[in-house]
Parts: sequence; structure tokens; C-alpha cells
Amino acid sequence: MTATSLMLKTVRGCNLACSYCYTADSALPHVEIMDVGLATDIIAQQMALVAGKSAVSFGWQGGEPTLAGLPFFEQIVAAEARYAPDGTVISNDLQTNGVLIDDSFADFLATYKFLVGLSLDGPRHLQDAARKDKAGRGSFGRTMAAFERLALRGVDVNALCVVGPHNIKSAPEVLGFFAAQGFTHVQLVPAMGFGCNEPSAYPKYLVSASQYGGFLCELLQAWMSLREPRPCVQVIDDALRASSGQAPAICTHANTCDAGLVIDTNGDVYPCDFYQSALACLGNLHERPLLEMWQSARLPDFASRKGQLPAACRACSWLCLCRGGCPRNRPSDSAPDALCEAYGSFYGKMDEMGLLKG
Ligand code: SF4
Ligand code: SF4
Repeated sequence: MTATSLMLKTVRGCNLACSYCYTADSALPHVEIMDVGLATDIIAQQMALVAGKSAVSFGWQGGEPTLAGLPFFEQIVAAEARYAPDGTVISNDLQTNGVLIDDSFADFLATYKFLVGLSLDGPRHLQDAARKDKAGRGSFGRTMAAFERLALRGVDVNALCVVGPHNIKSAPEVLGFFAAQGFTHVQLVPAMGFGCNEPSAYPKYLVSASQYGGFLCELLQAWMSLREPRPCVQVIDDALRASSGQAPAICTHANTCDAGLVIDTNGDVYPCDFYQSALACLGNLHERPLLEMWQSARLPDFASRKGQLPAACRACSWLCLCRGGCPRNRPSDSAPDALCEAYGSFYGKMDEMGLLKG
């Protein structure tokens, strides 16, 4: 198996201290940045492996990846150009809070056509309630300034909106804000409890499945009442796609867990962002080549876990849309995804509104 998608945890550490952050990144005494030599070596290896395929994608995440600095990313795109086989379409996406996106960074992201996932939870009072810096100042003004810089240059921006206690009761306001500001794509991320990227931790969310389901249903109602063109909201779009037989964009509702590999700042490789443990680690790129990770017998095993569905999912009328959710979110092998109730309410609402095909 050699898939075409890598996610690189470029930086461990963050320049914000969001109230719901599930990692200890914002509390690290110093920022750890992926060695640029390792990053360029990963690119060289991946490009050699995808020869003959038409596309390859790199996701740059953190912590806050822009803390690696613009020169880091300039070396990245230079390496991509150097090692890409002829005819390969390269895509890069950057997930950022936007605080460090100045004019130079925005120019760079526009020139190299990065897709930017911008962390924004809604209007100022909602964003600043949860997404503060270490001095306690809200980030809304700086994140919106980044959005304006990027929009001015035609960069594709996807709003990454964490849904937590701060905005769970404000679905129509959140959606109305994104629509009014000109966001074309919105992705919702239910807030997870601290330590939730540890596989041994129970999949605890900061909002209940019932609350999240209520949020999704209200958002859907508000979305339907917007004038065209409406922002594309991933959870709605994925359900519409699945109901017409197409693959959803998010792995949670895909058939298998094989979206790509995740590479930590220190070179450790994992099959998924939510399985970063010694047990799940496929190896370290300082010791073993990337090809060996892609060929690991543990990858197909990991991918197939998704299909080992609890009885509730096998009997569920929404299985064709939900695909059993995320195995990571099953409190036990026999229990469905902790957000099951939310998915059921949301699909039920879509059905009631006549939005689903078949
Ligand atoms: S375990 Fe969950 S997050 Fe990981 S690839 Fe599977 S569905 Fe996605
Ligand atoms: S809605 Fe719940 S029971 Fe149905 S497939 Fe999804 S997780 Fe399983």
C-alpha cells in the first residue's frame, strides 16, 4: 500500500492557549520544530514512491505550524519542485490559527496555492471566549486579519470551527457569521477532552452527543434558510455526497481508515492522528525508510478495524451515511461512536427535510 497523502506535525507547541486544547502543546516550555532536513528527506522519499501516480498531498499541521517560519516552508516547496516526478500535481494544506500570517506569508501561500484551514469558532465574542493567547488576549482580530490577507490574494480558506461549550448554543449565529464574512467552506470539529489523542483515553467530548446533534440540526435549518451560494459545510456536504453514492471527505464517515500517514515532529510515523502511541507507532524515519512504513502489515489491519462494527451499527439505518463513525470514538468494541446520537439526529433531520437521496 502506498497512498499519496502525508500529514506532517511540523511543530510541537503553539502561540495560543485555547481553553479546549486537548494536547499539552500550548504549555510546552519551548517549541519543537521538525528538522527541515527531515522534512525535505520525507518529501524526496514520498515523491519517489508516488512516481506514476498523478497527485500527491502534504498536510502541514502542529501545534501551530507557522511557528516553523516562512523560510521552512520556502525550503519545503523547493524540495517538492526538485523531487516531484514529471506531471505530478502537488497539493499542500496548512492548518493554522492565522496569528503569524503576515503579508509575506500570505503572498507565499497564494503563490504556491496552499489550501489553508483557519481556526475560527465564529464571531468575536465566541472566538475570544475560547481562543486566547498566553497573555489572555483573544485571537479574533488577528485570525480575521489573516483571513482578509488570504482572501485578498485568492487563497482557498476552509474555516475550522471547533464546537464546544462556548458556541454550542449558537449554531445559526456561527453559520450566519461565516456566510456574511464570505467563507466558502466550513468544517466543524467537536471539542475533545484533554488527552484525547492518547489512544488509551476514553473518547470524551466537551459537549454531549445530544448537544452536538442539536447544534448540527439547528445549523442545518439555518443553512437551508441562507440564500445561494451557501457556504459548503463539510458535515452536510459529506452526508449529501454519501447519499448519492460518493465518498465523503472526512475519514470518520469513510469506509476504511486509510487516509494516509501521520509523521510526528521527531520522525515517528502513525496510521492516524488519533493513534499516536508507542503501540501504534510504525517506526521512526531516522531509522527506517518511508517505504517500510507504507508496506507495514499493521496498516491494513488498522484500516480494517473500521469495518468491525458494533451490533448497533450493523442494525442502523444510517450506516450507509455514517459508516460507523470513528473506531477511536468507540468506548468499547461493542459500543458505537460516542457521537452516535448526534449523527442519528442530524441524518434524521436531513431526511425529514427531504435532502437525502435514495
Ligand atoms: S480512527 Fe478515526 S480519525 Fe483515525 S482514520 Fe479512522 S475514522 Fe479517521
Ligand atoms: S449513527 Fe450510530 S449506530 Fe448508526 S452507524 Fe453511526 S455510529 Fe453506528
